[in-house]
Amino acid sequence: MTWRLNPLLLCLLLSAAAPVAQADPAFRAWVVNFCREAVAQGVTAKTCDDAFRDVQAPDATVLEKAAYQPEFKAEAWEYLDARVNERAIATGREKLREHAELLQQIERETGVERQVLLAIWSMESGYGAALQDPKRLYYLPQALATLAYADSKRASYARSQLFAALKILQRGDVARSDFYGSWAGAMGHTQFIPTSYLSYSVDEDGDGKSDIWHSVPDALATAARLLQRNGWRSQEPWGYEVILPPGFNFDESTRTLAEWQHAGVKPVGGRIFPDGSRKAELRAFQGANGPAFLVMKNFFVLKAYNNADKYALAVALLADRIAGKPAPLRDWQRPYTPLTIAEAEELQRLLAAQGFYSGEIDGKIGDESRRAIQRFQASRGEPQTGYPSQEVLLTLRAR
Ligand code: CA
Repeated sequence: MTWRLNPLLLCLLLSAAAPVAQADPAFRAWVVNFCREAVAQGVTAKTCDDAFRDVQAPDATVLEKAAYQPEFKAEAWEYLDARVNERAIATGREKLREHAELLQQIERETGVERQVLLAIWSMESGYGAALQDPKRLYYLPQALATLAYADSKRASYARSQLFAALKILQRGDVARSDFYGSWAGAMGHTQFIPTSYLSYSVDEDGDGKSDIWHSVPDALATAARLLQRNGWRSQEPWGYEVILPPGFNFDESTRTLAEWQHAGVKPVGGRIFPDGSRKAELRAFQGANGPAFLVMKNFFVLKAYNNADKYALAVALLADRIAGKPAPLRDWQRPYTPLTIAEAEELQRLLAAQGFYSGEIDGKIGDESRRAIQRFQASRGEPQTGYPSQEVLLTLRAR
């Protein structure tokens, strides 16, 4: 007698294990068409067929991520607090020791200082930790095809990334089974999109492949090459924290450091900029109320990685802290006293224990944590700020 699984049970088992996507004929037709174009661009038909062998439909999660609008728009200081914190600094210093030889070698090859590469590694993937989280990993051909097929805003970006992704597969740098990235197509330890990968990828460990998914040497050298090619100036500061004179007129553009000096702007911890002929721009996210920085060439090179001032400032400040420099002298003006990471974890634990929160206990305050704080505040009839403050933590502890 042959043993047969009850078809209904089989169905239940399958749906419990993983939702098997229904084949979507229109999407499959789009893929066939796309593969034809890819072949015209030099990708073999086999590469494209293999890439999409198990992809039957768009990935609905990718479209959810693409449509997501954060409820709370982070202020610059919240963005910085979340990234330039004691955990990122301590891990950066550990990695500095662990990879000392490698970092020295990359520094010799590209002129990009070690602490800058560590700061980028932290910002992009939490020193690789994000690559261990299956919830954040998407099969790249499917993610990019989904965006190209169904997200009109990102279709043109996603098409060019998908062509590049297929070329990467064809080169054999990564196995199909390892070809994962963010929902938007950023890959590996240093989160390169496929076109940037093709432009900058380096095989630093010499195994014949540039594997930014598994090889820390390859990933960090690739990041260094991007900065080098975009004009990184070795041994030059990214900028200075500065003191503005009373009644400072913010209506200023690029000047040389000597001209800023003449306008009454001074470097923190000194009286004179050592390199007066260099050009610098002012960045003061909170105007006269917060810290101010004069930023120079390397700051703008960092923006080649991610074109946002707060990104470049976070990398710059985190790199300084990993290198042992102090935090900016002037603190941000915050509407509440923020928590350390350990306290933020305690806050999440207490909110969870009291039924307000069901997310992860990781000390990262995102939309979910803020909504939980709001629910807690609502339960007490307090204004629903959603702020992860010392005040909220004290109230929770007292319950
Ligand atoms: Ca390699």
